[in-house]
Amino acid sequence: MTSTVSKPYADVDFDELKQAALDHLWMPFTQYNDMAEAGGPMVIVEGDGIRIKDSNGKSYIDGIGGLFLINAGHGRQEIVDAVANQLSSIHYANTFAYGTVPTIKLAKRLADLAPGDLNKVFFASGGSEAVETAVKIIRQYHVNNGQPQRTKFIARRGSYHGVSLGALSINSYQGVQRSIFDPLLMDVKFVGDTADEVEDLIKFEGPDTMAGFITEPVSVTRGVHIPPDDYWPNLREICDRYGVLLVADEVITGFGRTGKMFAMEHWNVTPDLMTFAKGVTSGYQPVGGVLARQKVADAFVGDKKKTFTHGYTYSGHPAGAAAALANLDILERENLVENSATVGKYLLDRLSALKEHSMVADVRGLGLLTGMTLVEDKAKGEPLPMGHPKTKSLNKQLVERGLLTRGEPYLLLSPPLTITKSEVDEMVKILDESLTAVEQEG
Ligand code: PLP
Repeated sequence: MTSTVSKPYADVDFDELKQAALDHLWMPFTQYNDMAEAGGPMVIVEGDGIRIKDSNGKSYIDGIGGLFLINAGHGRQEIVDAVANQLSSIHYANTFAYGTVPTIKLAKRLADLAPGDLNKVFFASGGSEAVETAVKIIRQYHVNNGQPQRTKFIARRGSYHGVSLGALSINSYQGVQRSIFDPLLMDVKFVGDTADEVEDLIKFEGPDTMAGFITEPVSVTRGVHIPPDDYWPNLREICDRYGVLLVADEVITGFGRTGKMFAMEHWNVTPDLMTFAKGVTSGYQPVGGVLARQKVADAFVGDKKKTFTHGYTYSGHPAGAAAALANLDILERENLVENSATVGKYLLDRLSALKEHSMVADVRGLGLLTGMTLVEDKAKGEPLPMGHPKTKSLNKQLVERGLLTRGEPYLLLSPPLTITKSEVDEMVKILDESLTAVEQEG
């Protein structure tokens, strides 16, 4: 097969490269046999706006925004230049001992943007590290406040929080095969979708044993499950009443994804800790972190024992910070958070029309984050089980027509926040045609 790609891969033999991938690249969440059957992975070589190109020169709409993160869109030279400039002045300094200009500027900018008194930023390299950090902050917060017995965590059933062992302990998304890794590291109790359940659990377990409650503002792996209006305000009250720290995991929802800079703004609730990653740089550099309220940060001030002895070699990497600052400039200058709200509403309306299909039971969305429940039998409303042939078939149809999505058992869309209404129309047309094709297969 001859490649149509000219720059910068003119010399690459893509057939050989795909074989090398099969031989040497261990791909996350991917069964080798499936990849081998496909002849190796699709190799992505270019991106521009909402579109990416593979090594055959075929163009796709990036309907999932990489992996829920390319908020500013592909091909942003301004971010690339910011990273390059930073690398050529000082490419690294360890934040255990030193600051760099972009790292400090980014901490201040995030504190200014975040709700309430989320004033202090601890940097990591991604979402799992951010969640690990939040968990450790909570444990030590209670120790520093003289309540070391507060060790138990609460999380919501079906939510995703990352895959490192600490993060996996609070992760119960069915796609992670959690039970393989039992026994996990922490004592975590899982609850359903009501704040009352959280209160009942805290009372049952004993309030002075409870450390923190962590969940996503909008649960993405549960098909973009949006809580009722009083959920977060009630949780805030309950956590305050029992001295439990409340964490909003905004790894996906942050930086405009839901039509607000942070999803918690939809409910005017300030969590005690907020984890972030992904959209902070739109993926131009790997950055994550935790924003902490002043009272949490204050608990770490005092004698040496109160110090947070935690951190990563790449915490606050200057090139990552430079990418984040340039990314935030774009989000603000181009009003991409507002675009996420208005075009997101349009996307939801257009997707709702797809409920005419026998496979589509329900559609939900907030900003440019939408989820569809795909079913075999609409009357039962049960999502297709993981690994169902219809999901595989739909994905094939979508890819053939040039739309990349992700999600099992729900079909998820999370395109770049730059997307226009006519690009939404293009995406929905592909979905419509692909659903029809799968339904005709019977
Ligand atoms: N938290 C949430 C809500 C996520 O969606 C994810 C990843 O999708 C993570 C944490 C883990 O992030 P990472 O994959 O960067 O470790």
